[in-house]
Amino acid sequence: MIAKRVSVFFLVLVIATSVVPVPLSAQGSNVSPVAPRKELVASVVREAYDKFRSDTSGKNADYIPALAEVDSKLFGVAVVSTDNQVVTIGDINYSFSIQSISKVFTLALAMNELGPDEVFKRIGSEPTGRAFNSVEAVVDMPTHTGNPLVNAGAIATASLVSGKTEDEKWNKILAFYSKAAGEKLKLIDEVYKSEAATNAGNKALSMLLAKYERIYSDPFESVDVYTKQCSVGVNAIQLARMGATLANNGVNPATHEQVIKREDIPYILSTMMMAGLYDSSGGWAWHVGLPAKSGVGGGIVAVVPGKGAIAVFAPRLDDAGNSVKAQRVIEYVANKLDYNLYSPSSVGLK
Ligand code: GLN
Repeated sequence: MIAKRVSVFFLVLVIATSVVPVPLSAQGSNVSPVAPRKELVASVVREAYDKFRSDTSGKNADYIPALAEVDSKLFGVAVVSTDNQVVTIGDINYSFSIQSISKVFTLALAMNELGPDEVFKRIGSEPTGRAFNSVEAVVDMPTHTGNPLVNAGAIATASLVSGKTEDEKWNKILAFYSKAAGEKLKLIDEVYKSEAATNAGNKALSMLLAKYERIYSDPFESVDVYTKQCSVGVNAIQLARMGATLANNGVNPATHEQVIKREDIPYILSTMMMAGLYDSSGGWAWHVGLPAKSGVGGGIVAVVPGKGAIAVFAPRLDDAGNSVKAQRVIEYVANKLDYNLYSPSSVGLK
């Protein structure tokens, strides 16, 4: 009898400690003013984690050799609310390359410097309906750049960041991402070297943009800055906090610093909704209804405005380049917690 009680206690303990609701921030409160209760989020996250844990569909990106080496079984989920409640499960300390998710934050930095109108004029924000690295889109689209979340538009966006030298621009970008994460982030050198050695396609895109006068610094320098930004390492918690900064009107919920201008948030989130998952963004909007961004490193972050963000890391990708498990987990959690922005009840209608 006692033995049974002890084992039940340990079972409860194991469950309680493997979904770790980190205590609330400085305020000492444990009730979020906006997010559903932490316990509810933690139990839904665990359900999703268990449901999709053994899914082995998709495969690691392999066009960047270092990404093919990452253990494809890694799987971590983090939720950070706008009042900095944190719920995590799985491999949440593993630092993976942010890849295309970086594009969102370089866009934010470019808007900080130039304002949204200038960025819209120089980059645009239209879906390409093509793969993220499409050459055809650059040729066909009237803007050539397409939008800031495909490779061509992202390289052009990186070229907008000011600085006297390449190093100055890169350091500014890294410092900006770190402020959004609330922690000092670092380059994963191995990923950078691997991608720099194999990025002829991105260099070709940059030269094509130069032909159309749609890149605003030296093309190859801009590709190098872009390659470095894609190679920044984040873990699931850091990524979720970057998303929560977007959800929180640009204010990092942990440091309380205004990182992104409040008035720029709607432009960023609408661009994410339109193109965050490349040419499967339409299906994502249909099924999930949340602005999100994926990266070929296996991360996806989805933003729930005013409430928080959910980040998932799982390296196996579908054909469009989006993490399979991350999409499934976010869809599950968003549906269970009624996060879809277009659902009548999520905006208070019956
Ligand atoms: N660095 C990658 C590339 O340029 C980013 C692509 C992605 O994450 N979709 O191809």
